[in-house]
Amino acid sequence: MKKNPIVIMAAMDVEADFLIKKLENMTYETIEKYKFYEGTIEDYPIVICRCYVGTINASIATFISIEKYQPIAILSQGTAGAHGKNIHTGDLVIGEKCVNIVSCKTPYKKEGEGSNSLEWKLLKFISGEQDRLEYQLGDKHFIELAKKIPFPNGKVHFGTLGSGDIWNQETDKILWLHQNYGTLCEDMESIAIYTVANRYKIPVIGVRVISNNEILGEPYIRTTGLKSQEFCYQLILEIVKNASS
Ligand code: SAH
Repeated sequence: MKKNPIVIMAAMDVEADFLIKKLENMTYETIEKYKFYEGTIEDYPIVICRCYVGTINASIATFISIEKYQPIAILSQGTAGAHGKNIHTGDLVIGEKCVNIVSCKTPYKKEGEGSNSLEWKLLKFISGEQDRLEYQLGDKHFIELAKKIPFPNGKVHFGTLGSGDIWNQETDKILWLHQNYGTLCEDMESIAIYTVANRYKIPVIGVRVISNNEILGEPYIRTTGLKSQEFCYQLILEIVKNASS
């Protein structure tokens, strides 16, 4: 019987190249503009989806992945900006939860009263229901597996991924998100990948390497994407070992 694959999402080439090279018998297909690299690792079917940047791309590409492959798991991996003073470039964040950092309600202000995003509230808007803060959950089993994987070059932080189509560089805003909503980092795809995967009840986990820390003035290094792939490769081996036993 054909096994259902693990799908790994990657927004940019620098977040996908290493894993694509690890695929045996690789073939690829383009649907819309999204690239799907199919192959095996340790005889287990793996699909790497190059989904491009942002939540709209990530939503469409995750939906296509689920419809086309019915995966047993989805990994949201790539780079992210740090939201803490103790989280540095090269560290990893594993997403126990994920929150949308651009879904907000503002207080009422009159003309001339300006705008202050530190007064906003993160909320999810649900038709016919009370607007409320919502966290999308990562798969507990995969998070436990991730705890077993060594990462000698940096720290591994477990907690909340912030995500949305924004690149925050305002220190007060970043610290406000960290303090009020527990975010450890921000990226532009995870909230889409978590939400779509959870909607379809496909286990999902986010692995993000810190590529910049705006609070500490650590500049963006896009090639850090290699590190999340190396970690994900080890995680894939663990998932495959568990799926086969
Ligand atoms: N044009 C640039 C940046 C792309 S956007 C480039 O090609 O390198 C940055 C990507 O990295 C997104 O996919 C996002 O998920 C992630 N990212 C890294 N640091 C981020 C930050 N501080 N805020 C938001 N997204 C970040």
